Amino acid sequence: MNTEIIEKIDTTIIDLPLKRIHKFAATTINSKSFVIVQIYTKNGVVGIGEATTPGGPWWAGEAVETIKVMIDSYLAPALVGENALQINTLLQKMDCVAANNPFAKAALEIALLDIKGQVLRVPIYDLFGGLSRESMALKWPLAQGDAKADIEEAEQLMSSNIAQEFKVKMGYMSPEDDVNYIAELCRGLNGKATLLGDLNATWSELTTQKYLPDLAAHGMDMIEQPVAAWNRQALARIRDFSPIPILADESICTPQDVNEIGNLHAADMLSLKIFKHGGLTRTHQIIQIAAAFGISCYAGTFLESSIGTAAFMHLVASQNNIDGGNELVGPIWLADDIVQQPVQYKDNHIWAKQEPGLGVSLDQDKLSHYQRV
Ligand code: MN
Repeated sequence: MNTEIIEKIDTTIIDLPLKRIHKFAATTINSKSFVIVQIYTKNGVVGIGEATTPGGPWWAGEAVETIKVMIDSYLAPALVGENALQINTLLQKMDCVAANNPFAKAALEIALLDIKGQVLRVPIYDLFGGLSRESMALKWPLAQGDAKADIEEAEQLMSSNIAQEFKVKMGYMSPEDDVNYIAELCRGLNGKATLLGDLNATWSELTTQKYLPDLAAHGMDMIEQPVAAWNRQALARIRDFSPIPILADESICTPQDVNEIGNLHAADMLSLKIFKHGGLTRTHQIIQIAAAFGISCYAGTFLESSIGTAAFMHLVASQNNIDGGNELVGPIWLADDIVQQPVQYKDNHIWAKQEPGLGVSLDQDKLSHYQRV
């Protein structure tokens, strides 16, 4: 049996600048915070991972500050001295010392997979069944909250071959303003690009019934998570009358959530995020259950750096059932990255790293530069 005994685990909070502001239903951000994890083995292998949230704890309850404390005080001590290659055992061990906290666990699991890939000399996609696709077309999240600025951004991205498909954040204005905003965006895009609208669970079932037909009539071609995460029954009723497909995000975190969504026929597609599911292994499990229900998956983002993006792209590259698109744009959207050899974007696609492990390594100077003090 191969062994890679874990000697030490370091965590560092960094704050990276963004190229522009980003509006979510609950907050607006202009920088992005990450917990960077480095796992060292006694044989001298170093694996890296990260966790990030969409601008604080509003989405999942975890924030970079709590993630660092959970890792330093509880999860890292449970892993030190263990064999880094026994990932399933270590996932169980982490669950024994701390309930929930999937973001913190994901950061560690990504670093463990990086170690395993390096030791076995294979890219992480080979640990999940091998390469099915080298690249996938990007869907870009427009989120300036100003239709004119968003249209300009979309046109620039289309003409520079970065993205031809778009997603837009909604739910921070009144429903009437949201409908007008979408109408203006759709007029501006003029049928040249698709538009997915993400309400981040801000509408009631009644509001959705009232306004969704208008959004579809204006040209929005898919809607993401209109109602509260827990209200899967409402999501099923909305799917029944909706003229456009429903993408579930906040409603789907655990394998049990997929069962419920599947049995209720509550979604056409699931938005995966490696942090909300607790890492790549658990995201892979979700993908398999979704496949058994015949539900497609979509690669969503919390705007990861090249570390989290490379990690997720290894799953996108290996899983046929992630066939609904992806929004893995974090490294483009950050004003700086913290790795050597960042993730590559070309011809409207994101490309999988081909080197062993994650395929990216930390730039230690940038880590110190952006470290929170
Ligand atoms: Mn979402």
